[in-house]
Amino acid sequence: MAENDNVVKVTGYCVKCREKDREMKGATEVAMKGKGGVERKAMTGTCAVCGTKMFKILGKPKTE
Ligand SMILES: [Zn+2]
Repeated sequence: MAENDNVVKVTGYCVKCREKDREMKGATEVAMKGKGGVERKAMTGTCAVCGTKMFKILGKPKTE
């Protein structure tokens, strides 16, 4: 499996296409405050097919 080694493909759920494994274009990592002030990492981007905004919570709290 050696396609594009340094390009990380981010996929998420597109509510418009109802597609679970849709490629996210222009995916950007963001930090958002969750319950109790806990910071969570999430990805935002747009559906590669219909351009709808997509959102994916990464669920892995990262400490830097
Ligand atoms: Zn879509």
